Formats: sequence, C-alpha cells, structure tokens
Amino acid sequence: MLSFLTDIADFFLPRTCHLCGCNLRDTEEVFCVRCVETLPRSLYHLLPMNPMERRFAGIVPFVRATAHFIYSRNSELAEAIHDMKYRKFPSVGLRLGEIVGEELNMAGFFHGADFIAPVPMHWWKKARRGYNQADYIAEGLSTATGLPVLNVLEAVKSHKTQTAMSLTQRQANLAGTFRVKDTEAIRGKGLVLVDDVCTTGATLRTLASEIASTVPDCRLYLLSLCATV
Ligand SMILES: [Zn+2]
Repeated sequence: MLSFLTDIADFFLPRTCHLCGCNLRDTEEVFCVRCVETLPRSLYHLLPMNPMERRFAGIVPFVRATAHFIYSRNSELAEAIHDMKYRKFPSVGLRLGEIVGEELNMAGFFHGADFIAPVPMHWWKKARRGYNQADYIAEGLSTATGLPVLNVLEAVKSHKTQTAMSLTQRQANLAGTFRVKDTEAIRGKGLVLVDDVCTTGATLRTLASEIASTVPDCRLYLLSLCATV
C-alpha cells in the first residue's frame, strides 16, 4: 500500500537523485544507486594507522579514527556537502550517515562503541542555520548501526568561520568551545564523535581533548564523513 502511494506521489512529484538528477526508484533515498557507488571512498578504515589515525596519534587518545570519503574541491561530493550545510538539505547528511554507517559497521569499525555523539553547534549558529548537519549524519549512522545518539556534548562558545585558518589558528579559535554536559553518561563507555568535513582535524582534536580531560576512561572513536587530502 505504502509503495502504491509512493508510486502515485512519484508520478506527480518525482523524487530525483541529489547528484545526477535522475528519477529515484522506490528503494533509493536522496541518491541513486549508481551515484552511491561512485562516491569517493577513502577506505581508511581498512588501513592500520590510516591518515586520520596518524593525524591524531599522540595528541588525543582514541580507539579508531577515520574519514569515509575524500573531499576535493569542485567535486560532486563537495557540492552535496555544501547543500547539506548551507542550502537546507540536511537529508543529504542523513543519507550519507546511513551509507557510512552500513559500510563501517560491516567492517567492524564500531566494535566496542556504545553511543554516537555529533560535534555540537552553538545554539545561536544552529538557530540561524536551522539545524546542525552533524545531528543528521549521526542520525543516519544510528539507523545503520543501531547505536543510539547521545546528546551529551555542547558548544558553549560560538567561534569564527575557520575556512581560511591554519591548524594553530583553528585551535586558538576553538579553545573553550566544547563542554561535556553529563560526564556520568559516558564514563567507561565507547563514544563515536561525528564531524562532517575534516580539514586540519582541529575540531575533533579540541572536542576529544575536552572529553579526555573531563572523562579520561571514555573510549573515543573519531569519525568524519569526509576529509581533505
Ligand atoms: Zn544519481
């Protein structure tokens, strides 16, 4: 019945792939199967001491770290990420989160993890944007893995846009930004921190440092949807 109604809705208002614009089948969401297949995977999770793990090793404690896609300027993925963040298409984050969750879950990446926690956004920025894209990525990951999303982190300070900053400048800009709202909830637990784009690693680094200093026995998994190379 639901499929029949979807068919009728698609006839009048066809759902199209966010990347190539083709009409989506019933079983497809946001992207067509062909576009999902062509998204540029990093396959970092298959490599011991992958580039993301090297980035954080010796700086913050973590169990695993990865970025699932490679972000390059002017790519289709970059366009989709831009839509997700700035053009009111949070569904792109939800779907990408599902894809990442399915693929990493099959590879055992989340072994030992208990919760998923999106990188928080300051309330003022969230009010202006209307949503935090990391919440949607986390929701997609949760759907694919069955791990619950835990709203345990907050951004207590807003910070300037970091696009043109170096790692040192970003770290100074982010100092004092994050706080753990409920330390008991994550004591002795495995927490997957979820970010959207990892450029210098400053955001995950600052957040992980804050958690490690507040709740030292919380095991951290650092996961970014994509990373620049
Ligand atoms: Zn497509």
